[in-house]
Amino acid sequence: MKLDVNVLRYLSKDDFRVLTAVEMGMRNHEIVPSELVDRIAGLKHGGTYKVLKNLLKYKLLHHDRSKYDGFRLTYLGYDFLAIKTLVNRGVFTGVGRQIGVGKESDIFEVAQEDGTILAMKLHRLGRTSFRAVKSKRDYLRHRSSFSWLYLSRLAALKEFAFMKALEEHDFPVPKAIDCNRHCVIMSLVQGYPMVQVKQLQNPETIFEKIIGIVVRLAEHGLIHCDFNEFNIMIDDEEKITMIDFPQMVSVSHQNAQMYFDRDIECIFKFFRKRFNISFQEDRDDETEVEVDENSRPSFYDITKDANALDRELEASGFTKKEQNDLDKFIEGGLEKSTDSDEDEESDDEEQTFVSNEEGSLNEMESLQLQEEEQKRSDEVEAEVELDDNEK
Ligand code: ADP
Ligand code: MG
Repeated sequence: MKLDVNVLRYLSKDDFRVLTAVEMGMRNHEIVPSELVDRIAGLKHGGTYKVLKNLLKYKLLHHDRSKYDGFRLTYLGYDFLAIKTLVNRGVFTGVGRQIGVGKESDIFEVAQEDGTILAMKLHRLGRTSFRAVKSKRDYLRHRSSFSWLYLSRLAALKEFAFMKALEEHDFPVPKAIDCNRHCVIMSLVQGYPMVQVKQLQNPETIFEKIIGIVVRLAEHGLIHCDFNEFNIMIDDEEKITMIDFPQMVSVSHQNAQMYFDRDIECIFKFFRKRFNISFQEDRDDETEVEVDENSRPSFYDITKDANALDRELEASGFTKKEQNDLDKFIEGGLEKSTDSDEDEESDDEEQTFVSNEEGSLNEMESLQLQEEEQKRSDEVEAEVELDDNEK
């Protein structure tokens, strides 16, 4: 998707005030009625309506008249809120080129004042086409409050928390810098995903190292669950960095062994195919590098400390409830490995959040506007929990 940050420069304080008002309204409304936006924003002389038009022009909002006249944030609008907040905090000063696009994220370079380049990951849960996420939606249909906005925020928070905790325990991960809404800022990894690498100087060493990471993760109580050539970066010195953590689970998860074995199998398969490492089962070609298939680690034999990273995770503010909410969503998609699948078409024309709660006027009245007024600031965290019932 396009992220024209130049627009940021043209947006005034009032523009952000109204954008934030829509974000707040979305806590209780799929579509936020214009009058409510106006009341939360509190601009004088009908100023809100002019601003709304401006925000629409830049596609930061989506205008919906299907049930009543109202607005909702687009992904771009949500991006801008996060970017503005992080820029205000002094985390970075400008956004550069896009360096990655995942099924449920966009990665950009961002620059700090002193020229340091960092990576910005914008989570986009629910971006994939309706068909692609239908199984997840079905899974969630009868569960309480979810929205893509909320889930994307949780995915970012979880990723940030795990990255920090893993770093504390000397795992090779990017340095977690900051996090706001659906956006994670981390150090830029020099190198490329393993999937792009055709040759290695020491394939066996790298192989052993990578398998070692999976094992050590389990010893620390965690399974990556999407550990494959797309989520392992390698640089010219053949240094490994693992990325992409929103789907990690604990070793006490009921399917832990299956996820562990799958991560291990992905690595075996990739190295077998790409670098001709052979295992005992297909050892006929003498020129191949041999690795003992019996060295395949067994989940059962690993001494696992399910609480090893708990302290760090708790310190990050990622609560058990949030963990549960996110897990319910992600597990719907965990059954198949996400990255290695063929990409499904993405829903480009409408980068908005999917949710279907109708806001009623009564609800609107019950909104505690005064409290909202107080909380209003660029730093506000929108905890949007909308109902995700099918229409
Ligand atoms: P997704 O969850 O969508 O798969 P990832 O975190 O795997 O997102 O990132 C997608 C791609 O973006 C990666 O394959 C990699 O090429 C690039 N990328 C992600 N994080 C970084 C980083 N910190 N530094 C450099 N490139 C990155
Ligand atoms: Mg990935």
